[in-house]
Amino acid sequence: MAELLSLAEARAAVLERVVPLPAEPVALGEAGGRVLAEDAVSTVDLPPFPSSAMDGFAVRAADSPGRLVVVGSVAAGAPATAGLRAGEAMGIATGGAVPPGADAVVRIEDVVLEGNTVEIPGVGEGKSIRPRGGDIREGEVVVEKGTRMGAAHVAALAAAGAAGVSVSRRPRVAVLATGSELRPPGELLGPGQIFDANGVLLATALSAAGAEVEVLPAVEDDPDAHRDALERGLGADVLVTTGGVSVGPHDLVRSILRSLGVEEVFWGVAVKPGKPLAFGVLGTTLVFGLPGNPVSTLVGCELFVRPAVLALQGAPEPGPVYRDARLAAAVKRNAGRDELLRARTRFTDDGVVVEPVTGQESHMIVRAAGADALVLSPRGNGELPEGSHVRYFPLA
Ligand code: AMP
Ligand code: MG
Repeated sequence: MAELLSLAEARAAVLERVVPLPAEPVALGEAGGRVLAEDAVSTVDLPPFPSSAMDGFAVRAADSPGRLVVVGSVAAGAPATAGLRAGEAMGIATGGAVPPGADAVVRIEDVVLEGNTVEIPGVGEGKSIRPRGGDIREGEVVVEKGTRMGAAHVAALAAAGAAGVSVSRRPRVAVLATGSELRPPGELLGPGQIFDANGVLLATALSAAGAEVEVLPAVEDDPDAHRDALERGLGADVLVTTGGVSVGPHDLVRSILRSLGVEEVFWGVAVKPGKPLAFGVLGTTLVFGLPGNPVSTLVGCELFVRPAVLALQGAPEPGPVYRDARLAAAVKRNAGRDELLRARTRFTDDGVVVEPVTGQESHMIVRAAGADALVLSPRGNGELPEGSHVRYFPLA
């Protein structure tokens, strides 16, 4: 590992190799979590007609205050058949179309009903009326290209009349854990064996980032087993392996990837944990070789793989998005590598405070599971004292 890339250099080298995936149409009900491939515009003015914001009476402001004759009523979806004339009021429900001639709505709580008349207080023009197009106008952009869609986005698109949208295809991600010691969780452990934590880690994180993940069966540290599985994984848009990228005699991933034609872009990042991370490409397939300690896999996934998966979908800011915080306790810095500490965030009157969890070693995935954030401790000498300003990003 001649020269370690900085975090920023490595991230740039990855994102540079991302070729965004083509678009495909999906029904709105399938669009949650997907990234919009083009601006989505409204097919209507929204609201499509002036509507009442209240249950009450549609009136002419000029008739107020006063006693008016109730000439009918409007329900949502059932507009009036005639307009409103001077001296008249019409009952109206929230969402009902304001009848022509009316220019205000008086809340039902503010009137006195007597027979077929209603006494109303003074009311200003436009009161409790939602104007046509007040939310958006026909032809205007409802959701911008590059937006990863949540519930409010798909609701806005539905309200604007879209039955479907154009989104980037989901990246196909193959996950392969390597290591002769690995057993699937649920089986019995033999001597020297441990459960595979990385397969589900990556599947969970990357599905949440929009990928279609296939977890291949873990392979032993054997060249033939590696070759078959890696070859299969290279058919995906992204191949993520764990383990076997360090300098031990059983670390086979890099050499076999190379023999399969993968061009290694870098190996070694000045980050802790996760230093021996390897990244390469075969055509447009991105290949990440993450070191096997589960916390290294977690950190490598958050720093590099998740951003790549989001960038493949056309997300303009694939992250991680850092925020500011202060340290709850002093931490020792690493001289040569930026460190990502697992920490818990706390919101105080003074802003966010982050407290590193106990147990920062890279095999301690259970300790890491007690954290909700990764805090960047930049490389350097000495320590960062309690109260230092640091940057962090939340763990999903
Ligand atoms: P390696 O990167 O292959 O040298 O592995 C580093 C450490 O991570 C070793 O202690 C492995 O046993 C452990 N490890 C590797 N893969 C996994 C995995 N999928 N789940 C849990 N631990 C793993
Ligand atoms: Mg190994």
